[in-house]
Amino acid sequence: MNGPVVPELKFRSSKLYPSPSQVNSVLINIDTIHEVISVNPTTGNRTRWSIPMLRPFLVDINLRSCSPHYIRRLLHDRFVSYPPQICFCNALASDISDLAIKFGFGHNGFTLTMNFTLTYKSTVRVRNDDGLLGMVVRLGMMKAEDLMSLNMKTEPCSICLESLVSGSKPTEVTRMTTCSHVFHNHCLLEWLKRKNTCPLCRTVLYARSSF
Ligand SMILES: [Zn+2]
Ligand SMILES: [Zn+2]
Repeated sequence: MNGPVVPELKFRSSKLYPSPSQVNSVLINIDTIHEVISVNPTTGNRTRWSIPMLRPFLVDINLRSCSPHYIRRLLHDRFVSYPPQICFCNALASDISDLAIKFGFGHNGFTLTMNFTLTYKSTVRVRNDDGLLGMVVRLGMMKAEDLMSLNMKTEPCSICLESLVSGSKPTEVTRMTTCSHVFHNHCLLEWLKRKNTCPLCRTVLYARSSF
């Protein structure tokens, strides 16, 4: 992994339509992706990996004013549990304020949907794909004690069907950052070598393309 990773916020789409009520509703949806370029030092081959890092973060706010200052405070409150919030709340506040004014805030009710992707980029040098898949597994690594507190002590790993904590296998487990399903680390790693979706719910856990 190289250097500090600075996330890049990319606007995907927005939809603005009138609402019959006087409510001004803003829906903000953010997907967080880790984009890793892996370079094979022997062949020079490059692969782009796209790994979802968190569940999509959805915020629904009701605007009572269209002042950027008010919207900024509202966004900071709602994104407080979302680590990279500082870098985009300010920019987002003036965008929302502009759109609200354009749409006649105070005269019409409206619903505004905004979709963003927040991307963390990095480059790694690896000889084969296993290193990268190991990274996907490590993203959600948990200790057995954490499983106890989640009341998952008796749950089986749905890949090998053995208990997550008391079977014959080592008890390192991974809780997927996107869908929250839990598996033995090594079971998940073997699975990811063949498939790129969660064994239980089929959420995409990584995508890769060569270039
Ligand atoms: Zn297992
Ligand atoms: Zn899942």
